[in-house]
Parts: sequence; C-alpha cells; structure tokens
Amino acid sequence: MKLTLWTYEGPPHVGAMRVATGMKGLHYVLHAPQGDTYADLLFTMIERRNHRPPVTYTTFQARDLGGDTANLFKDAARDAYARFQPEAMIVGASCTAELIQDDPGGLTEALGLPIPVIPLDLPSYQRKENFGADETFHQIVRHLAKPMPRTEAISCNILGATALGFRHRDDVAEVTRLLALMGISVNVAAPLNARPSDIARMGQAHFNVLLYPETGEGAARQLERTCGQPWTKIVPIGVGATRDFLHEVAAITGLSAAVDESALRLPWWSASVDSTYLTGKRVFIFGDATHAIAAARIAATEIGFTVVGMGCFNREFARPMRAAAKAHGVEALITDDYLEVEAEIERLQPELILGTQMERHIGKRLGIPCAVISSPVHVQDFPARYSPQMGFEGANVIFDTWIHPLVMGLEEHLLTMFREDFEFHDAAGASHHGAKAVARAEPVEAGVLHHRTPAEYLDKDEAAAVAVAVLGAPVWADAAERELKKIPFFVRGKAKRNTEKYAADRGVTEISVDTLYEAKAHYAR
Ligand code: SF4
Repeated sequence: MKLTLWTYEGPPHVGAMRVATGMKGLHYVLHAPQGDTYADLLFTMIERRNHRPPVTYTTFQARDLGGDTANLFKDAARDAYARFQPEAMIVGASCTAELIQDDPGGLTEALGLPIPVIPLDLPSYQRKENFGADETFHQIVRHLAKPMPRTEAISCNILGATALGFRHRDDVAEVTRLLALMGISVNVAAPLNARPSDIARMGQAHFNVLLYPETGEGAARQLERTCGQPWTKIVPIGVGATRDFLHEVAAITGLSAAVDESALRLPWWSASVDSTYLTGKRVFIFGDATHAIAAARIAATEIGFTVVGMGCFNREFARPMRAAAKAHGVEALITDDYLEVEAEIERLQPELILGTQMERHIGKRLGIPCAVISSPVHVQDFPARYSPQMGFEGANVIFDTWIHPLVMGLEEHLLTMFREDFEFHDAAGASHHGAKAVARAEPVEAGVLHHRTPAEYLDKDEAAAVAVAVLGAPVWADAAERELKKIPFFVRGKAKRNTEKYAADRGVTEISVDTLYEAKAHYAR
C-alpha cells in the first residue's frame, strides 16, 4: 500500500484508451466496474474532443459479481461490434476486473467476430498509463502490420502520438513539415488519427520516426523486427536536437539535412542582449523522461540557464535520465511521489521550475515561477493555437513559454534597486502575473504598539537559545536581516537557507552581518 494524493500517470487502461481514442475505426471493450467511465472526461473535457471515446465499458456492479460477469463481457463485445462496426477491436480489463479474472481475449474469440480482435494484457498493479499506451500500440502493430514492398519515393511512419498527449497534435504537424522539407513523405502517422487499415500498410515505409519513446518504442522495435525498418533515436525538441534529428534522418535516407531555417527565432532571441539576464538562472526540470531530457539540453545550451536538478516520474526511462543528469552535473531524481519532488525543489530553491501540472502547484506554493513542459497537464495545455514543442517552431514556442513566467530583466532590476518603492517592492510580484499590487508594509514607528511574538519578550540571547532549542534554527540579528534584504528576491531564499545551515553547522545561534558574508564566501568556494 502507498498513500497517494496525486499520481503522475493513470492506470494502464487509460493508456490503452489514449491509443483507442486517438485512432479511428478501432473500438475498445473494457471490462470495468461501474464508475470507470470517469476516464471519458479526460478526452471530452481536457482534450476537448467532440465525441465520446470509442470505449464500451461492461460497468459491472456489486450484485453482478455473484452472477456471470463473463457473459456480461461477451454481451458488451457483441453489442459494441453490432453498433459501431469497427475495423478492429481491442479488449482488456481495468484494475478491478483484473482481479475477477475473466479472460476478455478468450471470451471475444469465442464470439467469432469477423474483424481482428486484439487482447491486451495490462498489469494494472505494476505498470502505468504510458506503459499501457506503448503496449497497446505495440500489440495493434504486431497483429496488423505485415512486411510489404517499400513505396517508390522515400517515406516514413511517425510513431507514438496519442490522444491526450502533450502537444502531440502540433508536433506531428511540425515534424511532417520538417520531413517534407527534406523530400520525405509520411506513409502513416500512428496511433493518432490512424485507422486499423492504415496500420496494416505501415510496412511500406522506408523507416520510422519515433516521436515519443514512452508511447511508441514497443511498436518501433516490433516494426524493426518484422518489417526491417530502422527508427530514429533522437527526439527533435530544441534547436540542437532538431538539427541532430535531421542529420540522423539524412544518414538513414541519404538525403540532405540542410533545410530552411528562416522561421527559427530561438537562437537570436536568446543571443539578443535582452536575454543576458537569463544567463545562469537556476532551473529545476521534472516530467516524463523524454521531455525533461530535451528541456535540460535547451536550458543549458540554448538559453544559458544552469540546471540545478532534473528527474522523471517514469522509471522505465531511469537509465537515459540518469545519464543526462550526469552530463549536467546533477543527480537524477527518479520518483512518482510528488512530495519527494516538492522536497527537492524546496531544498534547491531554483529560480524557475520546468515541470508538469504538479510542479505548477508546487511552484505556486513556494512562490517560484514555473512553465509546463510535460504531461500530466490541464486543459490550458491543449490550446487552440498552433503550439508544437518539436522542430523549429517548437523551439520558438518553448522560448516564449519558458521566459514568460520570469520577471523581465528591467523589472527585476527595479525590484532590487527600489526595494522601498510603493510599486516595485519585493512582495508586489511580477506585473504580468495578474496579481494585484500589494501595498508595502509600513515600517513600525518607534513607540507604536505592535503585537510581540513570545520570542520578542525575551532578551536577544535567550531568544536565540530558545529558537535553536525549539526550532533548531539560528535567529537573525536586525542588521543581518536588513543586509539579507539587499539580495535580489529570487536568490534570497537560497541565501537565507545557506546562511542558516552554515550557522547551525557551527553552533552559531545568532546570525550577524559577518555570518552572512562568511556563509557567502563559504558557499562560493
Ligand atoms: S478499476 Fe482501477 S481505474 Fe477503475 S475505479 Fe477501480 S481503481 Fe480506479
């Protein structure tokens, strides 16, 4: 048992739903208890689809358990076929149905339907959503794709885009455009928008472009085995990665990687003088491994941030994540426990978080700006406008998205210089965040009564001793506290923590201005 409030991924049958809903002409019969239809909302509300997912649930109830749940499943499969007339069907069980051990595959086979029926074996208690999507797509390809003669002109398949994928819709469009610039046409892009009959002709392509290893690697390996198609290993997120990807495609096809880059703006935007203040900003990165690894490369080499921490929630990709983290000089955080992520962010005190919807909440709580780079995401990250992450336009989108939550250079400067200003003081926040201006607290005049904290009734030494004994933290002398406020607000949290740790390690009970500077010198070494 594990106490969980937030989960980064759903159960594996949600992954299977992402494949089924992304495709057309495919139906999913899911053995599941009443109530599991909640997952429909992910597609109709978050992704704003204008149709119900092509999923038939058996929705058994407590009273059905005494009877024949297997028959319930057979009826549901038969009815679904009659009503929807799909080209192919996938059948499987949700977590609860897994426990009652009816056999969806065997039961549907006994019906003798005139279409391919693909059984899914998704271990709900060991694996999660991404595995579910990958395995489902893999099984569909395994059952339907056959070796075929290649198309005359050079073509490829694009693998891994699903329903409910972070920017999958626009990534496929962007990569299709990039490939067209090289003279390569797309044979089939799947699972998103593909039909079972399209899957059947995937063998015609010369090679495969794997966009999302999390949801397409199983299929890529399957196609390599059965159809002899090589597949790309570089995911084109970021300028450098996109160029590397084009070279990889060039090496596979023998075509030229030189494509029109005239609409690529990230390199100049980040080289222009206005971006100087971004240099060395401390960033923490978390998400699925593919997006987090890509983000770290962009952050470090294309924008000039310093990566102070990175990690992913999907353990399947722990190895590449560890290698990437090592290259950035940090240790990878591999966890699906958001509390661990929060503790790490609190410890590192970054100036920017690049993460998922969960990290947005964490950032909000800790007062740290955040941009979203990976699923899980909310409705605002299925935007109406064109917003890929991949290719050259993706790089433009990324630059704008990441810079936006940061306080602009000039404003940052003003906040630090005019700390006493009525408008540009520390607590006011960035002007574009929509927060109302907060009036600056007036300093307490001498002689004016104010409520004292218990510690203020003690003399300084006693207060310090009490604080160390009770809280284990040294207290700040007034002068030191004033000095601390001179440090720009976005690094002040870190300076404060470092100084307190420095003092506590040395048994210093009261932090003076000297302690502050000694700590600064100590950590600068
Ligand atoms: S079967 Fe699984 S996903 Fe469905 S309600 Fe039960 S625990 Fe949740």
